[in-house]
Amino acid sequence: MSPARARVAAAAGALRRSSGSGGSAAPPRGRDRKRASPRGGAPAAARAPPPARHLFSDPAEVEALRGNLLSWYDRCKRDLPWRALAATEPDADRRGYAVWVSEIMLQQTQVATVIDYYKRWMQKWPTLQALAQASLEEVNELWAGLGYYSRGKRLQEAARKVVSELAGRMPRTAEDLQKLLPGVGRYTAGAIASISYGQATGVVDGNVIRVLCRLRCIGADSSSPAVIDRLWDMANVLVDSSRPGDFNQALMELGATVCVPKAPLCGECPVKQHCQAWRRVEKELAFASQKLFGKPPPVPDVEDCGVGDCPLCLPATEPWDSSLGVTNFPRKAAKKPPRAMRTATCVLERRGCHGAPEYLIVQRPSSGLLAGLWEFPSLPLAQDLQEKKEREELADHLQAWIGRPVAAKGLQFIGEVIHIFSHIHQTYVVYSLHLDRDVTLDPALSPSRWVTEDEFHASAVSTAMKKVLKAHEKQRRKESSPVKGSKRKRGTKAQGAGSACPGAQLSLRAFLRAPTAP
Ligand code: SF4
Repeated sequence: MSPARARVAAAAGALRRSSGSGGSAAPPRGRDRKRASPRGGAPAAARAPPPARHLFSDPAEVEALRGNLLSWYDRCKRDLPWRALAATEPDADRRGYAVWVSEIMLQQTQVATVIDYYKRWMQKWPTLQALAQASLEEVNELWAGLGYYSRGKRLQEAARKVVSELAGRMPRTAEDLQKLLPGVGRYTAGAIASISYGQATGVVDGNVIRVLCRLRCIGADSSSPAVIDRLWDMANVLVDSSRPGDFNQALMELGATVCVPKAPLCGECPVKQHCQAWRRVEKELAFASQKLFGKPPPVPDVEDCGVGDCPLCLPATEPWDSSLGVTNFPRKAAKKPPRAMRTATCVLERRGCHGAPEYLIVQRPSSGLLAGLWEFPSLPLAQDLQEKKEREELADHLQAWIGRPVAAKGLQFIGEVIHIFSHIHQTYVVYSLHLDRDVTLDPALSPSRWVTEDEFHASAVSTAMKKVLKAHEKQRRKESSPVKGSKRKRGTKAQGAGSACPGAQLSLRAFLRAPTAP
């Protein structure tokens, strides 16, 4: 037996052995849970030995799969900036840092979106040392729009730790990366170690889950810890020790570009001959065509694994559905619906020195959702609050910011803006109010500042707040259009709207004259 085959056989043996005990690796933790998230248990899967059908136990097949996948990757891989850095950067710490940044940015975010952010980030902070010296405000500004803002913050905190406690040296193995770097979980550690340092360790992210579940017809809940453990075992068996970084990227690339969730391109797939889901579809097609031509059909081999109540097969309650083909896999437990939240937010506007509008933005607390980002003054609302009460509460909240009474009736309703966070369905109820420039802000409150439109977009503001400003601008354009005019559903006049010009600023006197209660 060749050394390579012996290695595969040993790994497959280890997989079989670990399967019997049910207690292999711990489930992914930290942020990596998002890439391979266990969500509820499947204890039976953890105890039962996996049937051979769900394994890669033939060393020859593993070798062939590696070869096919890697030669496809060499031909078809996308040209991405972090791949270029990983391949050409001679300094090991810089190389590890470059891969680390890309992996954090790619969590929950599309490659196409990340590319520009990545380039700007690496240009601004090409080393761990440079990032360690940046302020959180700068990090938030560059991250703005990328979502999941705590990722940037934690990346910077971890970079500071590497610089201050590890003498600027990146840990070189997946185990040390996970142990020593806060916020680095199993997936990220495996990706950095294999891509930057050539460690033969597998990775499991959403793409890998999909590919492996289809290759081995794993139909149990793919987010359960037991299945995730099996997939990690499988990824560690499959990884090519001579090109581990390329192999891992190839598997993920396959999931991102060919073995996609809804309409996989099986005809172009370099590993279809190793794919049991594809084989099952092909057999069904052959069976159907034989039947069509009146030939005596062979008994269809549906390739069940042969183990009753197999914990990795499709559940008996939701069996194979021919109309779904290979997309029968993977299966996932139903997601918890996002929590609904309503927030009143107010675009406070004044005329700046040169007559251009300026907006008041305030900084959010340093922890929790959108920590440290800037937003229009906002107030969470109870779900069933009536409009009148909603206005009153917002008016009180604004009064606290500007130190003067605000008339609830003077708030102009702009509209509702929906923004979906991972676990929250957020509705922003948007109002606006013109202020006189003389209004001064209370320095004892959280940081706040007036910004022009350009400054607003350059600030660390969330995508949701950009949508709010867009809605406000749209309303302004409508109002200034002589033909269409404005038609407000929950209409009230903007404060000062008695003037001929709806966009005119309100004098301080008029502002103070306005009633304080509806
Ligand atoms: Fe995915 Fe189809 Fe390839 Fe199987 S054959 S791995 S289902 S793309």
